[in-house]
Formats: sequence, C-alpha cells, structure tokens
Amino acid sequence: MLRIYNTLSRKIENFKPQNPPLVTMYACGPTVYEYAHIGHMRRYVGDDILVRILEYNGFKVKEAMNITDVGHLTSDSDTGEDKMEKGARKFGLSVWEIAKKFEKQFFNSLDALNIQRPDILMHATDYIKEQIVFIQILEQKGYTYKIDDGIYFDTSKFPNYTKLSGQKAEDLKAGARIEMVKGKKHLTDFALWKFSPNLPAGGKKRQMEWASPWGVGFPGWHIECSAMAIKGLDTETLDIHTGGIDHIAIHHANEIAQSEAATGKQFVRYWVHHNFLHVDGNKMSKSAENIHTVEDVLRKGFDPLALRYLYLQTHYRQEMNFTWYSMGAAQIAYKRLIEEVAKLKNPKGEIPEFEKKFLEAINDDLNLPKALGLVWELIKSDYPDSAKAESLYKIDQVLGLDLEKSREKKKVLKIILPSEIQKLIEERNQLRKQGRFTQADYLRNKIKKLGYLIKDTKKGMEIEKI
Ligand SMILES: [Zn+2]
Repeated sequence: MLRIYNTLSRKIENFKPQNPPLVTMYACGPTVYEYAHIGHMRRYVGDDILVRILEYNGFKVKEAMNITDVGHLTSDSDTGEDKMEKGARKFGLSVWEIAKKFEKQFFNSLDALNIQRPDILMHATDYIKEQIVFIQILEQKGYTYKIDDGIYFDTSKFPNYTKLSGQKAEDLKAGARIEMVKGKKHLTDFALWKFSPNLPAGGKKRQMEWASPWGVGFPGWHIECSAMAIKGLDTETLDIHTGGIDHIAIHHANEIAQSEAATGKQFVRYWVHHNFLHVDGNKMSKSAENIHTVEDVLRKGFDPLALRYLYLQTHYRQEMNFTWYSMGAAQIAYKRLIEEVAKLKNPKGEIPEFEKKFLEAINDDLNLPKALGLVWELIKSDYPDSAKAESLYKIDQVLGLDLEKSREKKKVLKIILPSEIQKLIEERNQLRKQGRFTQADYLRNKIKKLGYLIKDTKKGMEIEKI
C-alpha cells in the first residue's frame, strides 16, 4: 500500500483515490517569464517520481498542469507588477513572445531530465472565460467585494482559511510585512480580478487585458489553478495536488478557499509539497548569482540524468543543498551505476525479494534515497546477472535513469573534475615537466586526500574517484 505525507493532515496516510485505478492530479506549473532553474526542476522531478510510483502501483494517472502566462504579480500580496510584463520588458520582447520562449526552455529542461509530460497542459490565457465564470459563482454566493483595484475574495467568510498551513491568525498578522492594497478588508483577502490601471497621459497600456463583467483587466494568479484544475480533470475534488512548500501559506490556501466556497466540496484529498533546493548553503537569488539552469549543468559537461540521480539522493520533504562538488560526485556515481548495469546481459528471471524491498521503500512516502541504496546492494549481490538485469530494468520505470540504454550511455559518460582538482592536476603536470618530482608527489597526495587517485600509466595519466 502506497503511503504518502499529506500536508493537510500533517500525517503520512494510506493513499486511496476516489475512483481507483484512476488518480486525478494537478501540479502548479511554471510562470513563464524567466529561466526555469534547477530548484524548479527538483520539484518537477519529484512530481515525475510520484506519477511513476503511482503507475508502478497499477494506478492510471491523469495529470494536469497549468502554464501561468498572465496574472502572477511580483508580490504575493497582490501588489507589484505582473511578472510577464516585467519579463517582457527585461528581455525586450512582447509578453506573448516571453511566454513562448520560457515555456520552451521549461520543457527542454523536463525532457533532459526524463520527466514525463503531463497529460493535460493548460495555459491561463486560454481559460479566461472559465476564470470569469468561476469568479461570478463566488460573487453570487457572496464571497467577493469590489474595490478600486479589483474584485477580491473575502477570506473572513471562509471558515478555517489556514487549515492547510496550520498557521494561527495571530501568526499571519505578526508575519505581515506586506503593504496592504488600499481598501482590502483583511490581510489574507486576495485578488480574483485586477483592473487595468487608469493610464496617465502617455502611460503604457497593458499588453494582456480582457473585458469582464466588472471592467477591463486580468485574472489574479490563484483563480487560474482552481478554474483549470476542475475543468481539466473534470472533477470538483482532486485526488492529489502538488507544489512547492512556498505555495502552502498563500497560493494553495487561496485555491482551497475559492474552490470550496464555489463548489461546497473538498477541493483536494492529498496535498503533496516539495522542499527547497539551496545552492552552496544559500537561497538561490539573482543578487547572490547562484541561480543555475539545466543548460548550465549541460554546459559543464554533466549528463542531465546525473542531476536526476543527485535529486533522488535527497528525500523530497528534506531541504536539498546543491554544490558543483556534489554534482561531480553524482556524475561519478551515475557513471559507475551505468557501467555496472552495462555488464549485465540477457535480462531474465527477476528477483522477487529485491523487488519487494524496493516497492516497500518507494511506497514509504517515496523514500528514493533508500531505494537507491537497495539498487547498489543488488548490484553487489551474488544473484545471477540476468536476473539482476531484469529487476533493474523493471524498477527503472520508477527511477527513470535510462538503465536499459546503459551500453550506449557508458560511452559518453565521463568524470567531470571539480575546478580545484583540475587546477592541482595542471600544477602537478608543470612540476613534473620541470623535473620537480618531490613537489609533484606532494600534490598527488593532496589530490588523493580530496578523493581522487592519480595513476601515471604508459598511456598517460589516469584518474579515478576513490
Ligand atoms: Zn497553482
């Protein structure tokens, strides 16, 4: 039985969909105004693993994802600029071109990482009508109010607004550094529809705006997910909704409030949230210049599936710290795995004991670090090679590490040395040319202490990870 942590109950629960084998799942997709980075990709690999585990357990997954191409403001408190308009200005393109450019980059990253595409892909700009209808229902039921800036959801009318985050109302107030939109009744109220600004003479018109019963403007960010999830999955109660932990307190709390207010039904049965990825122990940010993309990883010569392997080494609810050093180590581990699997021929026979343990690990709240450990145990074991091959190919349905292509992959995977090791090797080569062998040996030992063994052979220098 698959067990998974549900943010709503704050417990690990048995997973039981409403209409097995069908599982309806909605994933908050990207806002396509900037490059998707390895922090985003950690989340989507996590979602991919979840889908693959559901399928491995015999479920049929129907997954919908949105593409936010309008309405996501730079601040969560409904102030600031539309991110799409901001991105368009930054890159000197139209809003529509920006959306196309970064959606393409997003999907290239998904493909490189062997992430299966969602069954249903929905652009917010294609569902403006549905969002307006959704807001009208909320209006009829008395959940909305109008201010100069737009139509807002009155969170005081929705009981238990903070049930997902578990926050107390006092905490919300204490944590509020945000400037309130003028006229907003409560701190947690949020925009459903924003009006296009009245233009001063010579002011610039918004590139994206639509007519609505309330006036020309654009939808708020949160409403798209409720309207599109219910429409795309054709149900008012979803089995699973995923996102990052940064979505819990505001975005997903708002999705619950507006959906349950509109339908009178529970919106989502299992909420799954992925933890953050940090780089060198710090939050990724433009000012810290530590934002890396999948393209950066490829440019440095790494295999994208080594990055996938690296992600799998940390449990999805734990914070993960990325360094180029850990990326190098993951490349080496992945290379070794591929080399070991490439030796195994004629898949036949399976190993039920191993497959049972593997299933237990992945069904225990998606314990991939443990599952990877079992893979290595199996490789080192005395089971016949053909049975190992059969079992490994089978469980790769979940891992997605291209194990069946190991013989081709083996030829292209190489060790990427950390730059400090590379530098030491160059220094050592210089010393050897100058005949200063004692100093060269000293550097060789230093490199060894850093985890790399240098061997001088007739063919030249060879290096391996210890
Ligand atoms: Zn969303």
